Parts: sequence; structure tokens; C-alpha cells
Amino acid sequence: MSKRIVVAIDGPSGAGKSTIARRLAGRLGFLYIDTGAMYRAVGLWALQLRVNLSDMHRLEQLAREARIELGPGDSTVFLNGEDISEAIRTQEIADAASRASAVPGVRRAMVEKQREMASRANVVMEGRDIGTVVFPGAPVKIYLDATPEVRAGRRVKELHEKGLDAHVDEIAGQIRERDRRDSTRADSPLMQAHDAVYVDSSGLDIGEVEEAILRIVRDRTSNGKDHAS
Ligand code: C5P
Repeated sequence: MSKRIVVAIDGPSGAGKSTIARRLAGRLGFLYIDTGAMYRAVGLWALQLRVNLSDMHRLEQLAREARIELGPGDSTVFLNGEDISEAIRTQEIADAASRASAVPGVRRAMVEKQREMASRANVVMEGRDIGTVVFPGAPVKIYLDATPEVRAGRRVKELHEKGLDAHVDEIAGQIRERDRRDSTRADSPLMQAHDAVYVDSSGLDIGEVEEAILRIVRDRTSNGKDHAS
């Protein structure tokens, strides 16, 4: 069987990874895998069961037991058969995910699931450690970034579109705190892989970022042309 292609997209929150990864997967006919949603599922389950977020052993157990399924081609997420797509998109769950994701046992369990998912199809996988830890040999690695101001502005716009009240200073503070935790943890911190291409999405619209990344995919995969036409 021919080798599966992994397009790894890493970067901080609000850089546009999910939107871009989903669109790219659609263009390439690859499976889209949102690994942040998987850590969010663990965070949600921990809060539902009132597990203390500093109980590393119990968090690892939950991560191993969690049956996480991602709907192909969309953003549907199931935890143990239940649709949690909406429930995981809160600030509380983002924080719980960020705390749970610092536990090495939780990461080991998620990485195993992620590798298993990519063994069956070509994938666009987005997260924080895809190019550095999950698939260090991925042929295409992108580090997608944007300035903290732009990232906070995008998040505020998203919340306003959902009819929610949000202030840019408060959101910027939350983003800074999550970035700090994600990039200073001992296990698999957020960082750019040495062979990843750095893309700054600050001054670009989604279509421009998508085209820039598609060019990189075509350059880096021998058969990317077949997929990326
Ligand atoms: O990308 P998203 O904001 O949904 O991720 C939620 C949290 O999950 C991140 O803040 C990060 O702590 C964690 N995460 C991770 N490794 C990944 C993906 C997400 O640690 N590959």
C-alpha cells in the first residue's frame, strides 16, 4: 500500500488552523483531524465527572477510556457516542483541555489515537505537536501564526457572531495564558518543528492562506499535484 500523507499544521490558538485545515482537507480529499477537539473531549469529560484537573492518574485513565470520534469532513465530535461538538467550544473547556493536555499520560493516549486515525487515510491534522511529536516525519509541516492582537480580534468576532458578549482585552488575556501554558509545559510544548514552514496569517485572508499552504503541499509531496488540483 502506498504511504499515507500527513499534512501537519501547528500553531497557537486563534491562528486560523481549524478553518484552514478543514478547507485544505476538502480541497485535497484528505481526512481532517482536529486534535484540539480530542483534548477538549477529555477536558469536558473530566469536568462532567468532577475529576480534579491535577489528578494526573485519573486524567490519564479517562484519556485512555474515552471513545473519541470525529465526523469526516465536518466539525462533529463524539465522546462515548454522544455529540459534544457544541459543548466543547467554551472557554471553560478550552482551559480544562489545556490543563489536561499537560499530563504526559493524557498526551500518550491521544497521540496513539491520532496515529491510529492517520494509518487509515491521508490526513490534514492540526494541533500543537503534530510536526514535532505525533508525525515528526510528516512530508508537509506548517507552523501557522498570527499576532496576538489579530488572534484576539478574530476570536471576539467569532463570539459576536454567535451573539455573545466579548471584550478584546479579556480575550487577549485568555489567549496569552493558554499560549503560555501550551508553550512552557515540559511534555510536547507548542513550538515550530525545525523543518516546518512558517506562515504568518496576520495580514492575509483565508483564501490567501489556503493558496499559500496548497503551494507548500504541492512542493513537498511528489504526488501532491494529483491531490491538490
Ligand atoms: O486547538 P484548540 O484550542 O481546540 O486546543 C485546545 C487545547 O488542547 C490547547 O490549548 C492545547 O492545550 C491542547 N492541545 C494540545 N496538543 C494538540 C492540540 C491541542 O496540547 N495537539
